[in-house]
Amino acid sequence: MNDVKIDISGLRKSFGSVEVLRDIDQQVTAGEVVCVIGPSGSGKSTFLRCVNLLEEPTAGKVVVDGIELTDPDTDIDAARRRLGMVFQQFNLFSHLSVLSNLTVAQRKVLGRGKAEAEAVARENLERVGLADKAAAMPAQLSGGQQQRVGIARALSMNPDVMLFDEPTSALDPELVGDVLAVMRGLADEGMTMLVVTHEMQFAREVADRVLFMDGGGIVEQGPPADVIGAPKEERTRSFLARVL
Ligand code: ADP
Ligand code: MG
Repeated sequence: MNDVKIDISGLRKSFGSVEVLRDIDQQVTAGEVVCVIGPSGSGKSTFLRCVNLLEEPTAGKVVVDGIELTDPDTDIDAARRRLGMVFQQFNLFSHLSVLSNLTVAQRKVLGRGKAEAEAVARENLERVGLADKAAAMPAQLSGGQQQRVGIARALSMNPDVMLFDEPTSALDPELVGDVLAVMRGLADEGMTMLVVTHEMQFAREVADRVLFMDGGGIVEQGPPADVIGAPKEERTRSFLARVL
């Protein structure tokens, strides 16, 4: 049997009378990289936010590492720590150094001591190529560097799974490559990743599986060579014709 990291069944989400996700079933296995593509408003962010319960699903089950997040008896804060999340906006604390940005949650949430938290932080800054920026303030960094700090911050919590919601969409084009390179490195290390992205080249090269979402559902999924290279569904084709 595959080692299932994320198991989603019958997931629905409505905002008032508007149904944004309709009956999504998905399994992500350990080490798998799944890229989610689709037009604006198709429900990609809501899907990702339901996976870590930043949005409460209207119906359905979300199980991460065998723990049901949608079970009201689950300690949601503890369970959510298994999931690292990186957003389009980096949301760094502007008044804290890079190093402190990486140690705050480790200390407050995981209860790590200062020395351990700093050692973990430095290790992860190294991992994203920013070992020399520990003492810098976020405003001294480029957008791409800030996003890499955001990734290092998420990694410092030792997540089992990383969720990315358009991590490069706010970046100037020349800064996108470094962030994608870090993500590619994580994929190569075997990190389980769910990535909402408009970077089709990245999805083609790095994803094990691509999900094309439209209208709150998964219209088509499969290896990138199929979904991006030879889409079966008309909706996928017309989306790709617009973005490629
Ligand atoms: P995507 O990330 O694919 O652009 P979203 O998941 O952000 O799509 O949004 C899907 C739909 O859900 C959109 O129509 C959006 O307006 C709606 N939506 C998202 N969040 C909310 C919310 N908090 N309240 C009401 N509607 C929302
Ligand atoms: Mg979105």
